[in-house]
Amino acid sequence: MRNLNGKTAVITGGNSGIGYATAKQFKENGANVIITGRAAERVQAAASELGVKGIVADVSNLSALDDLVEYVKSEYGKVDILFVNAGIFAPAPVGQISEEMFDNQMSINFKGAVFTIEKFLPILNEGASIINLSSVNAYTGMPNTAVYAASKAALNSYTRTASTELAPRKIRVNAVTPGPVSTPIFGKTGMSEEQLNGFAAAMQDRVPLKRFGEPEDVANLVVFLASDEASFITGAEYNIDGGININPLLQ
Ligand code: NAD
Repeated sequence: MRNLNGKTAVITGGNSGIGYATAKQFKENGANVIITGRAAERVQAAASELGVKGIVADVSNLSALDDLVEYVKSEYGKVDILFVNAGIFAPAPVGQISEEMFDNQMSINFKGAVFTIEKFLPILNEGASIINLSSVNAYTGMPNTAVYAASKAALNSYTRTASTELAPRKIRVNAVTPGPVSTPIFGKTGMSEEQLNGFAAAMQDRVPLKRFGEPEDVANLVVFLASDEASFITGAEYNIDGGININPLLQ
């Protein structure tokens, strides 16, 4: 257990997958938790399962972010933990990248992350922890992920600069870069069941630890980075990937 007692934590995209598992652990460790998402029904269902506050806010919509921050400020005052987790994965080969696909991924994964932080900054406490959910794709040349990987590489670069600029306020900014994790994200790509199974088997085979990560694996790391035990860690990128990034040629 980590001590998050009395801390207020906001998680973007907390109704599913890694965000959901992290919301659960934040709460178990004593934090007041607010989750966001795009679909009202799913956000409310997850919030009531978790016993946390759920708010609908599309991170690619700046006025929705303004409303979110206004609400959090009026109900909770300041924020100690900001988990910038909302993201989408839309694979496509180079040569078949549409403008819509590009705009969607960049406006959620990168612009959404930047403006989530921008908008929350005025109500972040001194010593707050920002955790950006990136991906090992930021470092790899995995086919079909050019735009997704670029959105995460941009986020890593942003994380480094933000960490130095926010250090005077003792705000720490770190990135977590998971390998493949079992969440609904892959089912939202439009791939058929057969394609999904083939993708999962091929991916798992390449992971030295021979399994997908679980959302709880990533949540364990995020809870640590959110806690005061990580108070000397900023500007870092943490792989949590079963080893896939350091041994991509392993079969
Ligand atoms: P998921 O699909 O289960 O969860 C994504 C969450 O983001 C959902 O709650 C969804 O509502 C939310 N979201 C999407 N677009 C949004 C928007 N515009 N505004 C607000 N919320 C929005 O997937 P996940 O795997 O848990 O993904 C979480 C993060 O982890 C993403 O940033 C993803 O890129 C990253 N990631 C996932 C994996 C993996 O293998 N699952 C690996 C590396 C990185």
